[in-house]
Amino acid sequence: MKEPLNRRRFFSFSAKSLAASAVAFSGMNRLFASPNPADQMLQLNDKQGNDLCGIPAIDFHTHYPAGKNEEDLKIRLAAMDTMKIKKAILLSVDINTEDVGFNYVKSAPDRFVLFTTIDFKGMEEPGWGEKMAEKIVKDTRKGSRGLKLWLGARGQKDKMPMDDPRLDPVYAKIGELGIPVAYHCNDPEEFYYAPNRFNFWCGANHIREKGFSQRVHEMVGREEIVRQIVNMVSKHPNTTFILVHMAFLSRQLALLADILDRYPNVMLDLSADLGDLGRSHKESREFMTYYQKRILFGTDGGLSLRTQESWESFIKTHFVVLETDLDDVTPPFKRSWNVHALNLPKEAIENIYIKNAEELLARPLNL
Ligand SMILES: [Zn+2]
Repeated sequence: MKEPLNRRRFFSFSAKSLAASAVAFSGMNRLFASPNPADQMLQLNDKQGNDLCGIPAIDFHTHYPAGKNEEDLKIRLAAMDTMKIKKAILLSVDINTEDVGFNYVKSAPDRFVLFTTIDFKGMEEPGWGEKMAEKIVKDTRKGSRGLKLWLGARGQKDKMPMDDPRLDPVYAKIGELGIPVAYHCNDPEEFYYAPNRFNFWCGANHIREKGFSQRVHEMVGREEIVRQIVNMVSKHPNTTFILVHMAFLSRQLALLADILDRYPNVMLDLSADLGDLGRSHKESREFMTYYQKRILFGTDGGLSLRTQESWESFIKTHFVVLETDLDDVTPPFKRSWNVHALNLPKEAIENIYIKNAEELLARPLNL
């Protein structure tokens, strides 16, 4: 360590990038320290450099707010233009608001791609999986180009395991159609423990619920999650599974590598995970370089960003962490620590930012 880790440095953070990253998981930092304005300026001036490569990107993981969205659409398109985001994939989180997503696509068909989701109501009834497979076909006819699912450690309560046979018709159908599933299949390891000095990422509901540790009985264990993932992807080799947020396994890269090596139908998106990847930047750089054809760029933005400036700053933080060799960089979705940026080679940047996404989206559709 170059210098002792003093408290101010450890807890300092950039208000601007925090605001930009206040998409979901804020809160915990505030309990430990308040921002120091001097640090913020220092970081913004010195660290968020202007030497970014300028390679255009496809943001493979965004969301859209429910309700009226003309203003949001305008803001996002403007930010996408400035930041060279060629397209954004909109992942539905609610079956009841998917018309909003379809409207984004209708308004800017070259810029937005929608992945719809399925309805777990009725899952006890016979034929539910087939019915959901039909919904996916219908959505695809309407213009959807993928499925979004959330059955992670927290997401299985009142639902089902990822490898439940009732989901087989759904996985088979999307494989048949030639579209991928973006899968929230896990949650951060920290969610399993009580909030403490080293456990900042306690989840979006931390303040209200004092961390997920109080609900740990509702969470599926990590070993079981991995078992389900492996069982699911091995049962459906013709279906592409994009495990979002690096499957929240980026602190166990050997395990993640093993999954990628054994199952060529698995891809990853890096959204909301740069804070973890940056904790061991050399190892992460090695991993992302080696598996550069299997990783997609994504931000997980869209539910709370309301201005063009906050979008731009949020996207830029990703570029800074991925492209530069700067130390002490504020990652998106910052929890407690700054990270050393990943300094990915240009070829990897190009694959992760755009080429892999373009190849995925160019796959022939079998409707
Ligand atoms: Zn998301």
